[in-house]
Amino acid sequence: MPCIWYKGGLCTSPVLDKPTADVTLPSRCLSQGYTTCRFFKDVSTSPTTSDVRGSREYGRPILMIHGLNKPMKSDCKYFRLLNHESGSYLAACEVLKRYLNMYEVSLCVDYWNDCPFRKLQDKIP
Ligand code: SF4
Ligand code: SF4
Repeated sequence: MPCIWYKGGLCTSPVLDKPTADVTLPSRCLSQGYTTCRFFKDVSTSPTTSDVRGSREYGRPILMIHGLNKPMKSDCKYFRLLNHESGSYLAACEVLKRYLNMYEVSLCVDYWNDCPFRKLQDKIP
């Protein structure tokens, strides 16, 4: 099974600033060896939380980083807005499979069309 972050020959790991082929190694990215990669982030073992209505799939949010004080809207089809029981909102990306921080959310709102993750997912050159 290949690494979940390997897309179109690029590494889309959330620990990187942007997708790049510089760190990929097909023999590792396309095999179980990806688990030893220092860029690999396992989202499936993140602690789950019950305080996010409608989604447990992105692990536990850190409100100081991910909390939004108002609902944000992006025209990107991979953008998801979630309610948190604290009254704040969370945004997540279905491509990155994680919550987005406030800075990232502003990019998803204003520049979603240029997003390299969206282009990769949609296989746009
Ligand atoms: S194995 Fe490492 S370099 Fe390759 S896609 Fe996964 S995280 Fe990126
Ligand atoms: S704009 Fe990019 S980062 Fe934002 S939700 Fe869409 S694919 Fe994800």
